[in-house]
Amino acid sequence: MIGIAVLGSTGSIGTSTLDVVGRHPDRFRIVALAAHRNAARLAEQILRWQPEYAALADARSMKELESLLSGARVRTRLLAGPDALEEIAGLPQVDHVMAAIVGSAGLRSTLAAAHAGKRLLLANKESLVMAGPLLLEAVRASGSELLPIDSEHNAIFQCLPRGARPGAPPPGVRRILLTASGGPFLDWTAEAMAGATPEEACAHPNWVMGRKISVDSATLMNKGLELIEACFLFGLPPDRVEILVHRQSIVHSLVEYVDGSVLAQLASPDMRTPIAYALAWPDRVPAGVQFLDLVRAGRLDFCAPDTVKFRCLALAQAAARAGGLHPVALNAVNEVAVRAFLDGQLNFPDIAAVIETVITKVSGGTIGSLDDVLQADAEARSLAEMSCGRRRNALRTA
Ligand code: NDP
Repeated sequence: MIGIAVLGSTGSIGTSTLDVVGRHPDRFRIVALAAHRNAARLAEQILRWQPEYAALADARSMKELESLLSGARVRTRLLAGPDALEEIAGLPQVDHVMAAIVGSAGLRSTLAAAHAGKRLLLANKESLVMAGPLLLEAVRASGSELLPIDSEHNAIFQCLPRGARPGAPPPGVRRILLTASGGPFLDWTAEAMAGATPEEACAHPNWVMGRKISVDSATLMNKGLELIEACFLFGLPPDRVEILVHRQSIVHSLVEYVDGSVLAQLASPDMRTPIAYALAWPDRVPAGVQFLDLVRAGRLDFCAPDTVKFRCLALAQAAARAGGLHPVALNAVNEVAVRAFLDGQLNFPDIAAVIETVITKVSGGTIGSLDDVLQADAEARSLAEMSCGRRRNALRTA
């Protein structure tokens, strides 16, 4: 039995992971669950899965969790606070860690899982964007296995030659073709996008996801973060990763080899496929998804992205080329701007404007340690808060 810890169990990836695990009780068992503050959903999950450990990063929500569980027969040990996530990631009875916390909040526990030599199922792309060299070094040093959950990177992983190592250029590969659905605003004009609401931005045509990644998909920042993620994971420079808009989200990505062959992975758009693949690798297990019907799909379209309309993608490409601490700053400013947009304090185009304003001001430099990353993250966040504040005031007085 493989012991699994799900960090971010109450979210979209977390619940899909539990769905796949539940289909294979002979193979996997849930050892630990962790979330931020959704005590109600975590309580339900504890009752269903009876894990040895469960954690809430926000210690203030623990009382609610305890009262929801009072009277129930559970032997789960409850932990509170952000450090609990790292503790769970390193438990000896855990073999696989699903890193599915959203944003920079997932960085420390992802690193902890890598240091502890676990199989790391990486959904939390932000930790690779922020600390790619540190994470890859931890994976190398501990002998941990790194399997990407992002459907595109999982597709690329499936198309690479056996034995490809994280961070090392795969032999015989010329380019990677990273597909993008284009998000909900693919066919919108720039004028219409200027008035887009959070609900419209979160209404993805093909995927049901958490709100932060949904907004990232609408701005195409998600593809920019994935470009940086791909460069780290597959050891390639940004000019060898091409972004292709493919609105049907059926071809999840492609790998071009030096002999002209192009291998692609296709599947219905359902995150349970990459999750099942990473859980069972190198085996394959049923994921509970609808099988692909290409006749019904009818056509597969591809085109280049519009980096003028989707400015965030151009900014991410620039950060990928600049390297060092630039992706850290990009990720931090994006998190602040997306939160402000979701809270109704910024217009949709302000997200790109805030990022552009701030990243020209950050100091840059190289990543030597986690402290470098945390300092660059904090600097960019504080500049981003100021820039958002100015735009918020301008919106109020308009
Ligand atoms: P959700 O918003 O649905 O879920 C986020 C999870 O993280 C929740 O369990 C939440 O807990 C937890 N969380 C949030 N903040 C903290 C914190 N400070 N400390 C501890 N836990 C925290 O996100 P998704 O599942 O959509 O995305 C998760 C990650 O997977 C992201 O990095 C995303 O980019 C990536 N991803 C997602 C895909 C998808 O289809 N959803 C596809 C590919 C990648 P709580 O509920 O208590 O707030």
